Amino acid sequence: MRVMQGGIALNQVEFKIKNEKIYFKEQLSDDVLNEPIASISGKNYEYALSSYVSPYVAKKFSQLVTGKQEQLHFHTTFETKEGETLVFRISGQRFESEDGAEISGEISDMKQSDEQLTLALKELSDMKYALDQSVILAITNRQGKITHANDHFCDVSGYSRDELIGNTHQLINSGYHSRAFFKNMWRTIGQGNVWKGEIRNRAKDGSLYWVDTTIVPMINEKGEPTQYIAIRFDITDKKENEEKIRHMAYFDYVTGLANRRKFDEYLKRRTEIAGKNKEKFGIMFIDLDGFNYLNDTLGYLIGDQLLIEAARRFKKIVGDRGMIARIGEDEFVIVIDSITDAEEMQVFAASMMADFKDPFFVGGYELNLTGSIGIATYPEAGRDAATITKHAALAMYRVKGSSKNDYRFFDSDMKFSNHRSFQIKNDLRKGLDQDQFYIVYQPKVSPKDDSVTSVEALIRWKHQEFGELSPFEFIPLAEEIGMINEIGDWVIQAVCKQLQSWALEGYHPIPVSVNVSARQFLQANFVETFFSHLDTYQIDPSWIQMEITESLFIDNVKYVQQILEKIKAKGIKIALDDFGTGYSSLAYLRKLDLDILKIDRSLISGINDTSNQKEIAITIIRLGKSLGMEVVAEGVETEEELDILRNHGIDEIQGYYYSKPLGVSDMHPILKTKRLD
Ligand code: C2E
Ligand code: CA
Ligand code: CA
Repeated sequence: MRVMQGGIALNQVEFKIKNEKIYFKEQLSDDVLNEPIASISGKNYEYALSSYVSPYVAKKFSQLVTGKQEQLHFHTTFETKEGETLVFRISGQRFESEDGAEISGEISDMKQSDEQLTLALKELSDMKYALDQSVILAITNRQGKITHANDHFCDVSGYSRDELIGNTHQLINSGYHSRAFFKNMWRTIGQGNVWKGEIRNRAKDGSLYWVDTTIVPMINEKGEPTQYIAIRFDITDKKENEEKIRHMAYFDYVTGLANRRKFDEYLKRRTEIAGKNKEKFGIMFIDLDGFNYLNDTLGYLIGDQLLIEAARRFKKIVGDRGMIARIGEDEFVIVIDSITDAEEMQVFAASMMADFKDPFFVGGYELNLTGSIGIATYPEAGRDAATITKHAALAMYRVKGSSKNDYRFFDSDMKFSNHRSFQIKNDLRKGLDQDQFYIVYQPKVSPKDDSVTSVEALIRWKHQEFGELSPFEFIPLAEEIGMINEIGDWVIQAVCKQLQSWALEGYHPIPVSVNVSARQFLQANFVETFFSHLDTYQIDPSWIQMEITESLFIDNVKYVQQILEKIKAKGIKIALDDFGTGYSSLAYLRKLDLDILKIDRSLISGINDTSNQKEIAITIIRLGKSLGMEVVAEGVETEEELDILRNHGIDEIQGYYYSKPLGVSDMHPILKTKRLD
């Protein structure tokens, strides 16, 4: 479109740069340029531009020509022969063609026809309307003074537009971030780059809110920012959920004591300090006697009260001498920070037992509760955290196995006489060689329509002397003696074989998930071996899934991430098992981009409408979904648990409510109908 306006013949001119030469499509009036266009067209573009645009713009053009940039849009001013200043919008786009790159673009005069202007304004106001619905928008000048604030900004901050405009964002600074944080932000945007980050702000009423922020600098033709556009989203809810989960990652939700993770970290640090300062310290491993019986008969509400009361008594005795953690259902550990000799531990243990002689009054009952206590001291019982804990536990099991309600120190004889484990470890090899292992399959069900969506492969061992052994017992022992790789590999092969034979029998296989222990996963060639089994048995990767636990990420995140990527690239889904038991870390969850989140049984069993656990389970469901994961609840045993989970959008249910793990023969009807009935 070309309109003659006030003697200026230019409205929009297309140009092309090819082989470094610039060509104009239309004829520009000599009135505009200082020299006839005919003399520019076909010239070297740098030469042609040098007299009309600033060096900064010329540089941007060179970047287009050399391919460092794909696109270019900017405004520039230009003075006509008559001395009138025109504002031009210039845009260019690079295209690769067979005979080399070509830049094509247009120069347009900002004086547009009314019609175009109205259209553009309407478009803008539509966009603004859409943005105002969810985005907090602010524009500041170069000095950071707010020049524009949208309604959403006013709503969220609680300040009126008048209060915001003319002020800097200092007004809503919460003091949460360091000066370095803002310094870095200003450095980034001052150099003309976009800055992204999460900021905690303070509203007028003092409340704090979190915003996901992007600041885009608007640049003039010299490359200097003239103003900044800040686009923010309110992410307060997400942050609060994260905080809840973070707390959950370190504290036991029933007693408020530290949990296993916090205990592990604490003890590790404690051993380092003690090693350096040549100090002694002691730990007590306490298991409440008969707790399970009380919990089962009186209900977990009473059980929880008992745990809280026990925790209170422990705290009273330990005071500020150390730390107390709850690391299992009815298992506590206490670290006494520094002691002069082992007898000191005896004093603590004795006062605990004396204190537990007083009955517990909970829920109208008067209950007697005792504990079995194992004691281990540093450095006598071990020089690293894991060994000391294991030895304290061993001493506790000795008490449990005899009188209960007593305490005992670890001594090195205990290590060798731990008979059953010793024998199991010894028999693992024979078990593999003699085919004593087999696999059962536990269905996972979609609560929407009760269809079976996948099954989990669980290993079993028919031991010649002890009968059927639980993997809870023998898997840790196999890990301890380095047999887990072979056993894990056997499981993967057995599952592949089974899948192949189901396929050959004409079934469309249901996906099977396989548990992979950390140690197995970390072994060199794990993926290669795994993939080779898939090949051998012609397994479609969508038939198999992998369950891993967070313990995998403690030391090896980078490596684990690489391996996971290979597995994912193959099309195998990965589930994070036992979530919520100890190491729950959001950072990993985000980074690793896993497919499925399995909420641990301990957080599911006994949830009902009034339990505190329910909130945690719901938070995890929400969290998993917000990260785009499928969320599975394991260990669902009752209709009440199922209803709560279903109402909160759980994707899959696993547990005795629907089905126990099944042998191969029981799988046939399920394979046929994908249903349990
Ligand atoms: P897991 O992966 O958390 O498996 C779930 C366990 O909970 C299974 O115990 C299952 O039988 C049990 N379970 C399922 N639903 C319910 C329920 O409603 N109520 C109750 N009380 N329990 C339920 P299982 O088969 O004894 O396995 C124990 C653990 O042993 C597994 O925990 C897993 O960590 C490990 N494991 C099992 N098979 C393998 C394997 O092939 N390789 C490796 N590395 N570990 C395995
Ligand atoms: Ca599992
Ligand atoms: Ca699990």
